[in-house]
Amino acid sequence: MNQPSEVDATVGDVADVPPLVSLRRIVKSYRRGQQTVPVLAGISFDIAAGEFLALMGPSGSGKSTLLNLIAGIDRPDSGELIVAGEDIGGLSEAELADWRAQHVGFIFQFYNLMPVLSAVENVALPLLLKDMPRTERRERAELALEMVGLADRMAHVPSELSGGQQQRVAIARALITDPTVIVADEPTGDLDRESANEILNLMQRLNDEIGKAIIMVTHDSRAAAYAHAIMHLEKGELSAREQVR
Ligand code: ADP
Ligand code: MG
Repeated sequence: MNQPSEVDATVGDVADVPPLVSLRRIVKSYRRGQQTVPVLAGISFDIAAGEFLALMGPSGSGKSTLLNLIAGIDRPDSGELIVAGEDIGGLSEAELADWRAQHVGFIFQFYNLMPVLSAVENVALPLLLKDMPRTERRERAELALEMVGLADRMAHVPSELSGGQQQRVAIARALITDPTVIVADEPTGDLDRESANEILNLMQRLNDEIGKAIIMVTHDSRAAAYAHAIMHLEKGELSAREQVR
């Protein structure tokens, strides 16, 4: 997966593999009335295949804004955003929506599950956009829930699950389409310490075992320590990455 189609075995080297996500000179501001509020002042960095990155920074520093750009939920004012070889700046709104469904798994602080649907129905939801028989959607969703340790909670609705369990359902939902990148915005921000550790262990395991690239926003340095590297966003600028493991 994610291998270049033509690799010269004699010169093939890990460093030659193009990054999975590449941001170049990304600028973003918001308009508030007459005022323009600058948020990102020309951000450049790469996410390699299989990498687990943590993004930290004070409240209001633009962490969610940056994640939403990577996820194709919002668009930059200028700059390039290339994901899996595709410049997503060139996509129309409809193309971007399709692109998002195919390439991005989003994990939110407050889980964002559908309250009337069971765990397995929530997880199967992204597959509705695909041309797939109902039984296969269900089988895949069951498998994903087994992967996150919720085989015994398939039929529960969110209100019958703890916060940590709801976040595990959300992780299964984010993985179900086999996305290029997982984007997580403060995934443990609403959890007690023990549940947070479970979620972080799970994310680390998924990254290790299936090599899914993850970018996670957190303002908890203990949570950030689960990543391979940490970057800090402050006053529109991104720090150099700090290697963790
Ligand atoms: P963080 O996630 O780091 O707390 P955000 O990315 O949510 O920060 O916000 C960065 C800045 O952009 C804040 O000043 C926020 O008020 C502003 N902002 C975020 N979204 C919008 C929006 N849709 N319209 C106007 N301003 C926004
Ligand atoms: Mg935020």
